[in-house]
Amino acid sequence: MSIEAGFDSDTFRKVMGHFVTGVTVVTTVENGEPQGITVNALSSVSLEPPLVVVALDRRRYITPKVHAAGSFAVNVLGEHQQVLADCFAGAPVEPGRERFCGAAWQPGRSGMPLLEGAIATLECTVVGVHEIGDHDLFIGRVAALHNEEHHPQPLLYYRRRYLRVERSESIAIEGRQEG
Ligand SMILES: Cc1cc2nc3c(=O)[nH]c(=O)nc-3n(C[C@H](O)[C@H](O)[C@H](O)COP(=O)(O)OP(=O)(O)OC[C@H]3O[C@@H](n4cnc5c(N)ncnc54)[C@H](O)[C@@H]3O)c2cc1C
Repeated sequence: MSIEAGFDSDTFRKVMGHFVTGVTVVTTVENGEPQGITVNALSSVSLEPPLVVVALDRRRYITPKVHAAGSFAVNVLGEHQQVLADCFAGAPVEPGRERFCGAAWQPGRSGMPLLEGAIATLECTVVGVHEIGDHDLFIGRVAALHNEEHHPQPLLYYRRRYLRVERSESIAIEGRQEG
């Protein structure tokens, strides 16, 4: 399929869906209560200092809360946490997001909610926000991070569906790696 002009946002999403990503829950705190949303628009942007970016649609209920808190955590989900990915994306399940999807969590060093069972976590301080298009890009300086050495396979997202790693063989990169 080749479309050069006049495409709609659904077509754009469909094409971008060919880029496989992991799935995270971005969390923050409001009035002492944990808040979370499913996010795949995550990227590292700098090693020194360690910076990441998450892109949140300005209409998301959590976006003003991240602005207000000035901090967020990224929880990278394992494939066993698909139910949390659905719930934090607004699936009509019980308990819902108003009860933090019933997820077990604990505050990290910064107080941001870290989900039990997440295969990696990053606690970030917001050091910049770029309002662009219909999203806010939150640049977070990583203040603390954690990963489980032996962890389940990651949950993947591809063409609007979850994807599971069936073949866990990994192949060394021969080109020069970033950094
Ligand atoms: C795999 C995947 C990746 C995604 N990646 C991104 C991404 O990178 N960036 C992005 O912006 N979106 C992303 N999304 C979409 C995002 O997760 C959902 O659109 C979002 O969770 C919907 O929530 P909402 O609050 O915006 O809207 P709705 O679900 O329509 O919520 C409507 C209203 O319900 C209320 N509400 C919702 N949650 C709560 C709560 N916890 N407590 C109290 N009231 C509440 C609020 O009043 C809210 O306005 C992704 C979704 C999936 C499945």
